[in-house]
Formats: sequence, C-alpha cells, structure tokens
Amino acid sequence: MSIHDFIGQKQVIDRFIGQFRSGMTSHAYVLSGPSGIGKKTLAREMAKTLLCTEEPSRAPCGRCRGCKSFDAGSNPNFFEIAPKTRNILIEQIRVILDDITVRPANGKKVYLIQEADRMTPQAQNCLLKTLEEPPPYAVILMTASNFESLLITIRSRVVHLKLGRYSDEEMRMILRMHGKDSSDIDSAIAYSEGIPARALAITGSKSFVETRELVFSYLFGNGDGNPDDCELNQYLSGNKDALTDCLNILESAYRDAMLILCGKTSSLINWDKRDKLMEYAKKSSIQALIAKIEELNGVRSQLKRYINHQLAVDLVTLVPHEV
Ligand SMILES: [Zn+2]
Repeated sequence: MSIHDFIGQKQVIDRFIGQFRSGMTSHAYVLSGPSGIGKKTLAREMAKTLLCTEEPSRAPCGRCRGCKSFDAGSNPNFFEIAPKTRNILIEQIRVILDDITVRPANGKKVYLIQEADRMTPQAQNCLLKTLEEPPPYAVILMTASNFESLLITIRSRVVHLKLGRYSDEEMRMILRMHGKDSSDIDSAIAYSEGIPARALAITGSKSFVETRELVFSYLFGNGDGNPDDCELNQYLSGNKDALTDCLNILESAYRDAMLILCGKTSSLINWDKRDKLMEYAKKSSIQALIAKIEELNGVRSQLKRYINHQLAVDLVTLVPHEV
C-alpha cells in the first residue's frame, strides 16, 4: 500500500504530493473530516511518503530502509500519539517537543497527533511554540473531526486538508479491498453517507440485517395490518447498540417515502422495499414525514443528554406512528 494506491481524496493527495515533490512541504498539516472517513490511514501514508529516502518523484518506494522500517512499525523518525483519556494532555505534547529538538541522522522526522481537536487548550498552547518556529526537518501531521475546535492560532499555522465523503463507486472499491463483496454492499453504501468505516461495520453484520427487517415489519406490519410494535420494542430493549441503527433505518424509510411523494423514486435508499414504501407513502404526506424525522432527531439529541435507553426505545416504538 502506498499513498498512490489510496482510493479517493484525490484533491487532498494531489495537493500534498505537489508540495512534497516541489520541496514545498509544509511543517504542519491538519486532516479533518467525519469519524471513519480515513484521516488516520491517509496521515500514515503521508508520513511514509515523507520518510522515504528515495527521491521525491519515486516516494514512497517501498524498498528503502525508511519505507521498510515504517511498514514494520519501527521507523525511528516516526512518532504517533493519540488521546490517552478523553483528552490529549500537555505531558504528551511535551514528549514530542523534547524529541523534536534532536536532529535526525538524515531525512525528516514526522509526528502524527491523532484527534488533535482533543488537545487541551494548555496542550495546544504548548504545541504552538513549535508551530511558530519549527525545525526544518520536522513535519507535524494532525487529524481532527472538528477543525474549528482547534485554537485559531494553531489553525493559522497549518495547511488544512479537508477529507470529503466518498462516491458510491469509491465506496465499492474500498469495500472490495476489504474483501466485502456480499449482496448487501449496495444497501451498506446507501446507509453509510460516504463514510467507509460505517459501511464496513454494516456489511455482513447480522444484527444490522435483523434490525432492518424488524424496523420494516414495525412500519408496514406483518401483512395483517397490525404493525408489530412489541417485537421491535423487545428487540431494542435487549440490544442497546441496535437503537442507533434503528433510528437511521427509520429516517431512511421516511426520506424514501418523501422522495416517492415527490416522484423521485430512482434514488431510494431502501430500493428492495419500494412497493411497501409506495403504499406507505400514499397514506402519508410530506408534512407528516418531516414531523417524523424531527421526532427522530429529538430522540437522538435526548439520548446524547440524559434519557435512559428504555425510555428512548419506548418513545420510538410505542408512540402512535400511523401515517
Ligand atoms: Zn522508500
């Protein structure tokens, strides 16, 4: 694997490689984007490229000592830190700053700070001094889900590389690279909003398939006209992790019903359920569906704050949901 085999994020990679090959590599980069988009993976590929001892047009060569030791996890010029607790503490940054003053025998030294937006303000201020006057051989790579939560003084001294969501075709290539080629790939891609880690978690997940079937039984009933609320309620009560999937699946169904009402059936997420969704949409209205989605968002934000799991399950499955 090399940065040149990385699927997607072409603009980001072209910008970095362009700077690297022209000798204009920045002393600091922040890769930002949602959780699961591949920030850490790409940052490591950038590090490997920077530490290759071949000339830039051939890096990473995969054969030199720099590349081989990087792949073996033993390159002495690569340092990586991640949050130890909730935050990255000033002590962790001090370890980097102690090391950064020691000149390498040759080439560069690369530091990767994972989830840099979780540095405490003290840790960020501590790092700032080095970003103001970095030694010429050092490159600091950072990843952040939320770029804006870094201090403005940090943000103004780095190159910001923003990772975008992947196209369906790129997602398919990534899933295939991970050995996923089962029949549920398309629905995993549809549910994952262009984020590979989400699609990987869904593909082949028995619990996701089970949750989805139960959610649709709940919405449409089991053919006898009586939606089976109890079954979904009991299932979610005993499966804490399934509630998030349940909320996402319900939302996708409501969005699909809205698309049907707007006559846009070609981009349905739940294409395999379209006949039932059409029946469902006929009995509903755009306003009612928007209200349903708002209710789901309400449960999501309550879950983040104080509500207990069972109460959230009851709110989702026991409130009247006739369309
Ligand atoms: Zn190399």
